[in-house]
Amino acid sequence: MAERTISCGFCGKTFQVEDGVSKAFCVHCGAETIVGEKTIQEVLDEIYEPKKRYNYLEEYLEKNPEDEQANLLADLFEIRYFHRKKETFDGFLRLWFDMVTYARKRDKAKELMNIRNEIKDFFEEEKVAGFRAQSQQAEDLFWHEMSNAIELYYVSSKTDRQYTSSFFNLFRMKGDAVVTKAAKDVVTTGVALLSLCEKTEYTEKLTEISRGAFLKAYPDGLSYYNAALSEWLQSDEGKRAQAGAEAAEAAEITEE
Ligand SMILES: [Zn+2]
Repeated sequence: MAERTISCGFCGKTFQVEDGVSKAFCVHCGAETIVGEKTIQEVLDEIYEPKKRYNYLEEYLEKNPEDEQANLLADLFEIRYFHRKKETFDGFLRLWFDMVTYARKRDKAKELMNIRNEIKDFFEEEKVAGFRAQSQQAEDLFWHEMSNAIELYYVSSKTDRQYTSSFFNLFRMKGDAVVTKAAKDVVTTGVALLSLCEKTEYTEKLTEISRGAFLKAYPDGLSYYNAALSEWLQSDEGKRAQAGAEAAEAAEITEE
């Protein structure tokens, strides 16, 4: 049975409940909490295909034209998706796909430049910057959608539905090989994003949500992630990065 995450009305901590229940006891404090209807965002989180998401949101807006969150989502969809010849493409997913592709070639300085430029262009674009700047709700919604797109990348690595995994070279793999490769993507994109000469709020945020999205797609993925990380730490690149960090720390101590 599907589960959803709700916040306790008493202590505020989150916990999982089964879909469809109307009341639940908080696992942290024991208080009884009324489980409300799913928000439009929660429903859309469970739908991956752009056209289905569009249709659902459209129907919802017809019934609830004043719903602020739904209206924001409609604006955000116009930023996330673009249409060519009756097809709908996912611009957020494409950004992440490009990150993964560049990260795999990150030993070339040019590819790191490409990552940097694409992120900069993406976030500085008027539509994106304007949407985020209008309110905290819009900002939260933006990152939520970005996280949904990155999750889609990891989810599609295991269940290809006409969608993305054929691009990602993952579709002939099964079981452990898929999650191992996906975990490696989390580490290498993180390494590439965080090693950019110009670190920004976006690079740190993207790295953080990538890890979260991977673990949402693969609930048992933590050990795979840890294995990929320790493999990287033992690589030449990982050793250099650690030596650099230690040197920086030593320099800081000397300065004091
Ligand atoms: Zn509680």
